[in-house]
Amino acid sequence: MSAGGGKRGRVLIVAGSDSGGGAGIQADIKTVTCLGGYAMTAITALTAQNTQGVHGVMGVNPAFIQQQMRVVLDDIGADVIKTGMLHNAEVIEAVAEVLDEAPGIPVVVDPVMVAQSGASLLEPEAVRALVRDLAPRASLITPNVPEADRLIGTEIADLEAQRHAAQALLTIGVPAALVKGGHLPGPEIHDVLASADGLEEFSGPRVRTDQTHGTGCTLASAIATGLAQGYDMAGAVRRARAYLRRALETAPGFGKGQGPVNHAW
Ligand code: PLP
Repeated sequence: MSAGGGKRGRVLIVAGSDSGGGAGIQADIKTVTCLGGYAMTAITALTAQNTQGVHGVMGVNPAFIQQQMRVVLDDIGADVIKTGMLHNAEVIEAVAEVLDEAPGIPVVVDPVMVAQSGASLLEPEAVRALVRDLAPRASLITPNVPEADRLIGTEIADLEAQRHAAQALLTIGVPAALVKGGHLPGPEIHDVLASADGLEEFSGPRVRTDQTHGTGCTLASAIATGLAQGYDMAGAVRRARAYLRRALETAPGFGKGQGPVNHAW
């Protein structure tokens, strides 16, 4: 087949590994693959992890993260780049430098900070680097409520505050922000997308399960895959939410802790 071949769906994932297979790079690859895309990876950190928590973290040398990105971009190319766990400010700066070398590629930033188990996946002082170095290069940022609070220094307690936060995120230089509402109480979950077109809300009943490990990674990767396949932003979010809903509804219940979601489509 000729180079390019008109086939889209290439997603370069820049994130951390979850040895338990539920979140991180493993959730990303499963999601991109199930949705018909092609997953490539630049691994930023290894975690020794299971459904009960993160037991160890080993960072990858920032220069080697850059090399993983560069060799893939130079040869295979990417339709979208998705970032997840970036570990610390040095990694964020290194990743941002390579993103600047590939200015035409949309970037989906999942601003991973803390695992659902409570383990830190980003050093606290790195939040500033995320805002300064990564946000201006993002096409979409996908914080949950605690992450949005940290990014803009607020405390979101309800849907109205969530809407304001989504809009406020545009002022840090991202063209689109999806503030996910799963951490707010209530039977309905609202995700709020802010962009130059205004606000758009995606709502649906909460899936009652504690098998939620990897939900954020899965949603962001599903959106990235949709964008890589030519969906517009709202369409990519809509399909990603449907994918995540099914992943939660069919979670296999593995492990003794907070189990992984299921991947299928
Ligand atoms: N481990 C890695 C490597 C991750 O990238 C992430 C999330 O982004 C997590 C764990 C956290 O997953 P969860 O918050 O669903 O436990």
